[in-house]
Amino acid sequence: MDEVNLVPEPVVIAISENLLHVKERIRSACIKSGHAEDAVRLLLATKTVPVERIKIAVDKGETLIGENKVQELKQKMPLLTGLPVEGHFIGHLQTNKIKDVLKYAHCIETVDRLDLAEKLDRRLQFEGRSIDVMIQINTSFEESKFGAHPDEAMDLIKAVSSYDTLKIKGLMTIGLFAAEAEKVRPSFTLLRTIRDRAIGEGILPPDATELSMGMSGDLETAIEEGSTIVRVGTAIFGKRIYPDSYYWNEGKNI
Ligand SMILES: *Cc1c(COP(=O)(O)O)cnc(C)c1O
Repeated sequence: MDEVNLVPEPVVIAISENLLHVKERIRSACIKSGHAEDAVRLLLATKTVPVERIKIAVDKGETLIGENKVQELKQKMPLLTGLPVEGHFIGHLQTNKIKDVLKYAHCIETVDRLDLAEKLDRRLQFEGRSIDVMIQINTSFEESKFGAHPDEAMDLIKAVSSYDTLKIKGLMTIGLFAAEAEKVRPSFTLLRTIRDRAIGEGILPPDATELSMGMSGDLETAIEEGSTIVRVGTAIFGKRIYPDSYYWNEGKNI
């Protein structure tokens, strides 16, 4: 039996319609801010979402999938083999999970500290290969969020780019968690500014232009500020039972 059939029909319809709506939001935001329509890619933020539901979006042509936990990535990616999907890791990465994340992720968006980069490099050298990465910056200055402090961004980018095994594609941020999208704008502006400065100073290669920023509630603002990847979960798959703090503050004593 086709696994998609396990999902109740109203859910299939809801996911399909939500996806169309999100694509339309992306399209209008691109038009409004003068960006080419293909300048922004949609990454499905699929934490807690079962594979059968993810496949509904994949059937409609979506190819980017982001997971926050290595365990979930490890469970789901094998069930998606044969499909044209690219797995991104978008959660806090503990160094003891490196082997697994490298097995299943195409890109690690959350390189936020030097010791992580060092250990990734060591493992990749052992495996004789490289991986795409992004540098995660904490643009909201909130204690509870992961990501390098903006003041440390240049040093971290410089250090990470010295590893041939880590191919930096750009920068990633979560941004200020606020009910009003407008309040998060300075976070997005800051990420763009850091990227432009890093490219301008030759710290980032000229093609490391990706800005992974913007979620269900603020993707328009992110696109206006130059996002190239929006990571959307709730607006496509519905509300999650776990609060985001479960994923974002993991391992932090707050
Ligand atoms: C959950 C999550 C998202 C998507 O959030 P929504 O509000 O559900 O769209 C994006 N980025 C990261 C890092 C996430 O953990």
